[in-house]
Amino acid sequence: MKTILTNCTIIDCTGEPPAKNMTLVVEGDQIAGLKPGSYQPVEGRGEARVFDLEGGYVLPGLWDVHAHLGDLIPDPKNLLETESAIDYAIRAGRNAIDALRAGFTGIRILGEDHYADVAWKRAFDAGVFVGPRLFVCGRAMCITGGHGHGTLGSVEVDGPYEMRKAVREQLKHGADQIKLMVTGGVMTAGEGMQESQFLLDEIQAATEVAHQKGKRVCVHAWGTAGIKAAIRGGVDCIEHGLLDDKAVEMMVENDVFYVPTISVTQDEEQILESGMPDFMVEKALGSARAHLEGFQKALKAGIKIACGSDSSPVADFTLSEIEHLVRAGMTEMDALIAATRTSADLCEVADRLGTVEVGKLADLIVVSANPLENISNIRKLKLVFKGGNLVDISPQEGLVDFWELFLE
Ligand SMILES: [Zn+2]
Repeated sequence: MKTILTNCTIIDCTGEPPAKNMTLVVEGDQIAGLKPGSYQPVEGRGEARVFDLEGGYVLPGLWDVHAHLGDLIPDPKNLLETESAIDYAIRAGRNAIDALRAGFTGIRILGEDHYADVAWKRAFDAGVFVGPRLFVCGRAMCITGGHGHGTLGSVEVDGPYEMRKAVREQLKHGADQIKLMVTGGVMTAGEGMQESQFLLDEIQAATEVAHQKGKRVCVHAWGTAGIKAAIRGGVDCIEHGLLDDKAVEMMVENDVFYVPTISVTQDEEQILESGMPDFMVEKALGSARAHLEGFQKALKAGIKIACGSDSSPVADFTLSEIEHLVRAGMTEMDALIAATRTSADLCEVADRLGTVEVGKLADLIVVSANPLENISNIRKLKLVFKGGNLVDISPQEGLVDFWELFLE
């Protein structure tokens, strides 16, 4: 089918300025044409469906590249301790489908229990349900008793031999990337943010095995010593990161991606109202300043920054993350590029996704107001397309809100 979007401004997220009064043609699942001017129907050629966007803004579909579909923080109903694997998987799928309906056409999942990420990826790819494109890691690896142990299916491994085995296990299940917990973090009790966990030989074992298979390794790393060990160990992406000058320099030298998940420490209102235990609140707010300073160093150094929320529901928290990227110092255009092109690049699909260009897959959103004037206009969603197919984003009767179901 041919789809025509006309009377719109295109923000293509290649870095070019927006193009006003454009017509975009989709044929099959691809963008087939980008033409100035509005569409004039030709007699006898009525096979296309035409959307007059009335001055709306067309962007690439948005991305969250640090999600855990089944995670709940806080978890007021104690579901993570009590529910079955099937209940967990259903909740995870609902989270992903909601995200697509909010404009997120791409999600990278950085550690999930029961291989629910792999199952949903297959289901969405096969068209069992309409969902976002998923890029999955399976289970994350941590040290025995380390960050994230006992949650989201994390595998506790010690030493390079166990690491190799665990990485191969994830690859066997269909992981697109490998996730390691290299330092302490906010959510696990009894450890500091600066605490290093995996040792260099363990990190190297993971990157050697993953790279041999052509897969990237991304690491949860707050502490500066852990970040440097991870980069020495050959990792491809730092998540979170309390970056100092040396860490930034090493990331530039080694062309390492950065997913700051900046709202995890900067969204003070959400942190205070979330109902998280005190130790988590203290760690999150206690590292806020160093996190922000490190982010600004990374921004200045031109590091490839992508957009990840690390919180559920994915839709709400990732829209907020994009706003926080701007609040933390990015331009609106750079925040949009982080949430589109750079995120697609991190997932190694920038040749097909992440920008509005002829020949790319037609994953698109339409918003009614200019997000370059006010980033929060990304919330004024009108249309979502995935691979040229129109996604139903209308309110669904009988569907209960994610918050009400799981977070109240
Ligand atoms: Zn995470």
